[in-house]
Amino acid sequence: MSNPQKSVVNALSFDIEDWFHMVEIEAVANVSKWDTWESLVERYTQWIIETVTEAGVHATFFVLGWIAERYPQLVRSIVENGHEVASHSYWHRKVYELDANSFSEDLRRSIDVIEDAGGQRVRGFRAPSFSITPGSEWAMDVLLDAGLEYDASLFPAARAHGGYPCDPAPHVSAIAPSGRPIHELPMTMMKLGPITVPFSGGGYMRLLPGWILRRGFQQLNAMGRPAVVYLHPRDFATDCPRVPMPLKRRFKCYVGAGSTKGKLRMLLDRFSFDTCATVLELDAPDTLPAQ
Ligand SMILES: [Zn+2]
Repeated sequence: MSNPQKSVVNALSFDIEDWFHMVEIEAVANVSKWDTWESLVERYTQWIIETVTEAGVHATFFVLGWIAERYPQLVRSIVENGHEVASHSYWHRKVYELDANSFSEDLRRSIDVIEDAGGQRVRGFRAPSFSITPGSEWAMDVLLDAGLEYDASLFPAARAHGGYPCDPAPHVSAIAPSGRPIHELPMTMMKLGPITVPFSGGGYMRLLPGWILRRGFQQLNAMGRPAVVYLHPRDFATDCPRVPMPLKRRFKCYVGAGSTKGKLRMLLDRFSFDTCATVLELDAPDTLPAQ
């Protein structure tokens, strides 16, 4: 008997950055120190690639340019295993704190290093902390000018570093000031009693029990809509270095990491997944000519 839950294809994505790229933590804000810290990105990204590939699923890896430059073989391995690479910016700066010129410079630098490393054309972008907010719609024009086809940065609910009121389903967005259309894959929410909450990534996935995650997927898929999973290598890391930060933030950053591997496997087992580009029904990616 076919499983009706499997008929909707959900988007599986990973934001490839290190533990010290968490935003607004003073101890890790000094970029000149980044190279001096022990990295966990390689180890956990390899685990992600192996797990997802073994499950026969393709995913989108939004790679930080700073990471692609230091670990080009990691980007190569993502592409060689049939996955999609996209941009998560170069420096992990929040978009609404930049202007169009500085964002464009950062974005193009990230695209260059990711394409050089992987040999696959970059087509999508996710802003650090979903930081395309009302007032920074100009970012969509910067993405289009850089040749990108889709954005996955809008978070259709209020949150600490982002939030943008929009259609919560995948759609063609017309918020760019130029009026040009761009494909949008917003972050997904579920109804939990009277409230609407995010559930499908980061701290939400670490903290919420498996049965709530399943209910979220079932809710969306029953409406014919995909859920969008976003996880970071550090979401799986029980050995993540502990940096000084306020208790509330510490809770949000670390709690539940030991459960994430099992939850990802459970979801891979029960639901269908593919890349963001495929869920948005874009054509197959181009391979860049060898240099
Ligand atoms: Zn990030």
